[in-house]
Amino acid sequence: MNKTQPSIDTLAVWAGEDEYLLQGATQVPVVHSVSYGYDDTEQWLRVALGQEPGHIYSRNTNPTVQVFEEKVRLLEGAEAATSASTGMGIISSVLFTFLSPGDRIVSIKDTYGGTNKIFTEFLPRFQIEVTLCDTTDHEAIEAEVSKGCTILYLESPTNPTVKIIDIQRLVRAGHKAGAIVIVDNTFATPINQNPLQLGADLVLHSATKFLGGHADALGGIVCGPKSLVEQVFHFREINGATLHPMAAYLLLRGMKTLHLRIRQQNENALEIARFLESHPKIERVFYPGLESHENHSIARRQMSGFGGVMSFTLKEESFDAVSKLLGRLQYAHSAANLGAVETVVGPPATTSHVECTPEEREAMGIPESLIRYSVGIENPQDLIADLSQALG
Ligand SMILES: *Cc1c(COP(=O)(O)O)cnc(C)c1O
Repeated sequence: MNKTQPSIDTLAVWAGEDEYLLQGATQVPVVHSVSYGYDDTEQWLRVALGQEPGHIYSRNTNPTVQVFEEKVRLLEGAEAATSASTGMGIISSVLFTFLSPGDRIVSIKDTYGGTNKIFTEFLPRFQIEVTLCDTTDHEAIEAEVSKGCTILYLESPTNPTVKIIDIQRLVRAGHKAGAIVIVDNTFATPINQNPLQLGADLVLHSATKFLGGHADALGGIVCGPKSLVEQVFHFREINGATLHPMAAYLLLRGMKTLHLRIRQQNENALEIARFLESHPKIERVFYPGLESHENHSIARRQMSGFGGVMSFTLKEESFDAVSKLLGRLQYAHSAANLGAVETVVGPPATTSHVECTPEEREAMGIPESLIRYSVGIENPQDLIADLSQALG
């Protein structure tokens, strides 16, 4: 590879692979081996003690998984990265690595549904105090953080109402309080937003979504300084939520087109959001690329593209109207996923916030008539025609 710093497009295709290409193969192998044998016991010991690179047992490390981690690490511009079997696997590993009884974590109300469950159902059982602030009330978040916390946990854009928070501003507040600042970057991907460059300590992803992009593999990853990532790795190798090498391979293959997919999805989403915004049957469109979005100016500042996910509400406020619309769409899977090459739609009640009761969703400001629309890489005119006939 060229010695000058390659662009993110080139990194998506090439990064992390050289070392693992086998006997002239141009593609990374799927290493299905559980363990790794050593003729030299001295060398085995050095690898086991971490004094020499190598693999011992695939719950801890695996060559295919390592290439996946290396590619994301380079895309995020991080010192280190470690993965897990799912996005929730990495999120829970990160939280349980750094939190102890008596600690306090500050976050926002609009985190991913599963993350919200950890905050409200599990952490309190371990005497960890959780404070969830209104997502876009920066002053309230700063005030809570200044009272002291171990972790400030952020997500931007959020799921499903695509809210934007000022990462740089909250990083300053977090660091003043001595907190580790973590950002879930799933919706943006490293193509559209770099939380580490904005000052965050750790950036994490559900690789299941845009990174993989093909809705055929689950995975999670966290990137940041070695001193922090090593601790997460150690907890994850013990809790056992290991990324499978076959999943790592699928995610890697998907990532080779990450930059192309994200650019197409950015363009498609903006065009479709504008179409929906002007449609008489649509009440509201939530998309950070629209001038009408409440935090459009922050999005412009910290993102280089606004992503492939939007949500909208219908003027006719009933779950029945939502069901009818979804049933008429030809080019959209009605499914609990996002970030794929195909367009995917779903209401939060069956997708991101399926774990919550209607009352809990209402408290989080998620209307029951909301539809999340994750744009694929199809031709935007075909998607607009499809939405148009379905709404008509
Ligand atoms: C899907 C998602 C997760 C959880 O990821 P899984 O791979 O499903 O465990 C976390 N954060 C965000 C923003 C997500 O969209």
